Amino acid sequence: SKLRILLIAGGRSGEHEVSLASARGVLEAMPHPTDLAVIAKDGRWLTGTAARAALEAGRAQRGEHPFPPPLSWHRYDVAFPLLHGRWGEDGTIQGFLEMLGLPYVGAGVGAAALCMDKELTKRTLAHAGIPVVPWVSLWRGEGLPELPFSPPYFVKPANTGSSVGISKVRTREALGPALEEAFRWDDRVLVEQGLEGVRELEVALLGNVTAEASVVGEVRYQSEFYDYATKYTPGRAELLIPAPVDADVARRLQEVARTAYRLLGVRGLARVDFFLAPDGALYLNELNTMPGFTPTSMYPKLWQASGLEYEALLERLVRLALE
Ligand code: ATP
Ligand code: MG
Ligand code: MG
Ligand code: MG
Repeated sequence: SKLRILLIAGGRSGEHEVSLASARGVLEAMPHPTDLAVIAKDGRWLTGTAARAALEAGRAQRGEHPFPPPLSWHRYDVAFPLLHGRWGEDGTIQGFLEMLGLPYVGAGVGAAALCMDKELTKRTLAHAGIPVVPWVSLWRGEGLPELPFSPPYFVKPANTGSSVGISKVRTREALGPALEEAFRWDDRVLVEQGLEGVRELEVALLGNVTAEASVVGEVRYQSEFYDYATKYTPGRAELLIPAPVDADVARRLQEVARTAYRLLGVRGLARVDFFLAPDGALYLNELNTMPGFTPTSMYPKLWQASGLEYEALLERLVRLALE
């Protein structure tokens, strides 16, 4: 039977454009009648034809309706908050949808907030014995703590995605500008040990609390790291699906990913990103609870390679939201 879907895209974060690109793919393939709402960069909303126009344009600087927008929320069976980064992937919109009593795709309030925050994610995983890259963190206005590891470093806003605000630095002296950049995006910043020569492996998960795992994928690129330009400039990154890794490595990755997913209480979906070091050490980098979702994004491609086509994947997500 047909369900009425409300797709919400755009958003206030640095990943606004990425979200709209994902939404184009989802709107085209969604096997249910779907209305679109777009959150402009100023936080105001666009609905109806204005939302469609924003999707065509690929971005919306200014919206029309202050939050909450005048939508007939009760007309929808499921909301799909296809938003990346803060105010979308971090539990904020999920809280609003909870208050409305409207089922939605993806992680709930707590798990979304936890997975968006790199400090809290790493603390939780480390406590459960899942290996994470060593890090320190500081709040805005605090001095940098003693670093228990040597350069290179990765400096990251605690809540970010698409590498927005992230820098790789090779000297202690370069930390200053990198911290300044990261604090443009968040009040808390992490300094991580930079791993050298690692491979980047990703696995897609689907399910509520207990997840199915896809085949493992790998990202390869020429740049210094997997930064924003490398992620979104066509031809800059190569996705290897399945990743050329031993079967036991793939199995370990899937198992760790599913354990982390359950531990953090994720619902619906996540793309779990790992680093594999030259010595065979495996680190869980992060769980993305609303991964990129264009038909050529890693998440849908991993499922396609695992036998689940894009449209069938959307159907599964809608059903999981209603469960
Ligand atoms: P996403 O778009 O996947 O949500 P993100 O903005 O949450 O990304 P990360 O995945 O933490 O950011 O980091 C972005 C990229 O920076 C990684 O894919 C990797 O290329 C590089 N990177 C991050 N941390 C490290 C590290 N500690 N050592 C080596 N490389 C790293
Ligand atoms: Mg991320
Ligand atoms: Mg992300
Ligand atoms: Mg990542």
